Amino acid sequence: MKKILLALNIVFISNTFSQSNNHNICGTSEAMDSYYQSNPKSKIDHDNFELFTAEYIKQQGANKSSSTVCYVIPVVFHVYGNVQGGKLVNDTVIQRAISLLNKDFYGLNPDFNTVHTNFMGIRGTMPDITFALAQLDPDGNPTTGIEYYPTTSGYASSTNWPLIAAEAWDNYKYMNIFVQNDLSGSGNYTWGGFSTFPDTAKSNAKLTMIGLNGIYLGYNSGEEKSGINTHEVGHWLNLYHTFQGGCAIPGDNVADTPECDYLGGSYGCHSSPTSTLPINCNNVLINAENYMDYSSNSGCFKMFTQGQVSRAYASLYHPSRFPLWQPSNLIATGLGNLCPGTNINNSFVASTKVLVYPNPNNGTFEIQINNEITVGELILTNCLGQIVHKQKLIQGLNKIDAIKLSNGFYHYAIFEGKQQIGIGKLVIE
Ligand SMILES: [Zn+2]
Repeated sequence: MKKILLALNIVFISNTFSQSNNHNICGTSEAMDSYYQSNPKSKIDHDNFELFTAEYIKQQGANKSSSTVCYVIPVVFHVYGNVQGGKLVNDTVIQRAISLLNKDFYGLNPDFNTVHTNFMGIRGTMPDITFALAQLDPDGNPTTGIEYYPTTSGYASSTNWPLIAAEAWDNYKYMNIFVQNDLSGSGNYTWGGFSTFPDTAKSNAKLTMIGLNGIYLGYNSGEEKSGINTHEVGHWLNLYHTFQGGCAIPGDNVADTPECDYLGGSYGCHSSPTSTLPINCNNVLINAENYMDYSSNSGCFKMFTQGQVSRAYASLYHPSRFPLWQPSNLIATGLGNLCPGTNINNSFVASTKVLVYPNPNNGTFEIQINNEITVGELILTNCLGQIVHKQKLIQGLNKIDAIKLSNGFYHYAIFEGKQQIGIGKLVIE
């Protein structure tokens, strides 16, 4: 398996900025141990938040995948060189990357329904978490949410922390993603990315970040490789690798992901949806298609589990994550219209009064409004939060023709008067 990893040379490093000589090893636990040793308060905070997370998951119970809050995360990309490894990294590529990221979180990735039968029933999605490019910068000026800089490398190295802190936008208002072709600064141009777990000290220092390699963004290396972004955002939402701790308890602190004993490696994909391999140290089939595995090496990123989803939702209440999705911050970052109306009190409820189908669609779809509603209005926004379509709705069946919209991912919001009665995501493909 080492050969495969070397051949593809995708390595993820989370919560670490020190470079490992062996890029096949993630180094997460080592890096965290090291970080916590020099930052004991962060270690205490981390342990306390694990207690919160456990309590949150206990309270969520069976509703863990159906939260009633609209979570929008403002994102800014810092791009260092608009050609990386021969691949363009421009606005279009970044917008596609965001769209693909959201698709993975919603479970709309094309291979979502092909996972191994053992894990089909525990797939988890996060349909109410949306990542959106900021439309206002920290000074309140219009922005694309994408900042370009001259080609630079090495932002995975702590020696560059001062540069990162200087260029990052407020970590409590934006998720900062840094895109470089050589993240390590050592001439490794195929290293995929790194990330940071929730940590107040890092956010205070403007060092909460995700690092990505431009060669894998959007469709630059195919849709599968875009899952590297999903993997790193998973870390940003406090998810460990599925092989964290090997077979030792507590592993990745997620109840429904089987232990993995291949630290820093990958066993490859299941050969079929009913394959009996690969198995772990307890002879149990592993979840090789998990985003938090290294399965991108083998080309089988497909899913999060419900347990991971619960843990990720809990992370949004960490002091370093909570401020980002608050309505006041969405307004400050120009994204207030992604969760309009009732999000002010964070209590919107996905309505059963409205049905939108089919979804995904080819640009022609219908909205069924039940007889509790007399008249409504549809507002369709793109992934940048721009309104692209408005239409009055009547009780019963409404045909919506959005065929002129380009393929991609949109939000719909449906209002009765000023009251929002439905919200969701729409994919046109
Ligand atoms: Zn990772």
